Amino acid sequence: MLTKTKLYLSSPHMGGTEHAYVADAFDTNWIAPLGPHVDGFEKAIETYLDAESHVAVLSSGTAAIHLALQLAGVGPGDDVLCQSFTFSASANPILYQGANPIFIDSEPDTWNMSPELLETAIKDRIKHHKKPKAIIAVHLYGMPYKAREITAIAKSYEIPVIEDSAEALGSTYFGQKCGTLAEFGILSFNGNKIITTSGGGALITKDIALKQRAVFLSTQARDAAPHYEHSVVGYNYRMSNVLAGIGRGQMEVLDERVRARRANYQFYKTQLSSFNSIQFLEEPEGFFANRWLTCVIFDSYEQRETVRLALLADDIESRPLWKPMHLQPVFSNTASYTNGVSEHLFNHGLCLPSGSNLTQDDLDRVLQIILNTLSS
Ligand SMILES: *Cc1c(COP(=O)(O)O)cnc(C)c1O
Repeated sequence: MLTKTKLYLSSPHMGGTEHAYVADAFDTNWIAPLGPHVDGFEKAIETYLDAESHVAVLSSGTAAIHLALQLAGVGPGDDVLCQSFTFSASANPILYQGANPIFIDSEPDTWNMSPELLETAIKDRIKHHKKPKAIIAVHLYGMPYKAREITAIAKSYEIPVIEDSAEALGSTYFGQKCGTLAEFGILSFNGNKIITTSGGGALITKDIALKQRAVFLSTQARDAAPHYEHSVVGYNYRMSNVLAGIGRGQMEVLDERVRARRANYQFYKTQLSSFNSIQFLEEPEGFFANRWLTCVIFDSYEQRETVRLALLADDIESRPLWKPMHLQPVFSNTASYTNGVSEHLFNHGLCLPSGSNLTQDDLDRVLQIILNTLSS
């Protein structure tokens, strides 16, 4: 019997040259968290982003957010405003720093941080004599957040923004690359992201001194001395030269990967356009999304679950949208400013298989199940 293969939401997709870079790391014995691939991968990302950005590659996107909070001066007892509709890794590093997250709900156009609620929260916190130390805004599913509005508010209150671009490498906002829109940008190269090093991340800054500080902290904060001398607490957060080799190969195919993911989105949207009960996330003018995952919003929770379970029965992975942080048990005692938008998306939305390595047959297989379910 012919067995169908399992279809994943988003699986690693090698370009072809990764192997040669990794072999080179072995041949030259650069099997360490430094070396020519680390430098080369950083250079490739900098060239891709813009002329002004400096990039430090790290062990994960989570580590990058943690270091960004440190560099922004966030410490114990501080408040950090964070988009609620996101993956928990956006918020957990706030707790690593002993600081308090305060969650901000989304607006319906991009599903990202609501500028109105952000300003309400800042005013409210200031009224209580505690100005937030940083803002973490997220380009969820690769859709840019409303950066002009968010940046203007942040600037007027002089609060630095950490731009969680983990899902948005390849997205642009009025022509500017996501990851370069704020004081700090972060990327992820986890196995399910648009390009991968199996695990990894990056911190982006326009200030070379901040990059150097991030590299210093990420390599155990060793002071200049022949012995091991330390005057601050360090971390083991630098990327391995072996993994950076994978990253160099992946950068060569990034644009292709974005094209393929956008084509997936276009396929689902075109094929499902006759169903009024299904909504897609559209790009506002000036916004260009990498379409990391294609998400659909159903009329009801029941319809969403029927489709999800029908896909599962055919060994196809799909997933409800991110559960907002203000509804997570781990953050149950956390302050939040909410409007119901992210909760609605969580209850009605589904991420469809979106990998850049899906074939037309794979996409047709997913579509057929959705069509059968909706018309029965
Ligand atoms: C993946 C992801 C992260 C964390 O990146 P890792 O490399 O997995 O640590 C952070 N924020 C968002 C929005 C993500 O999707």
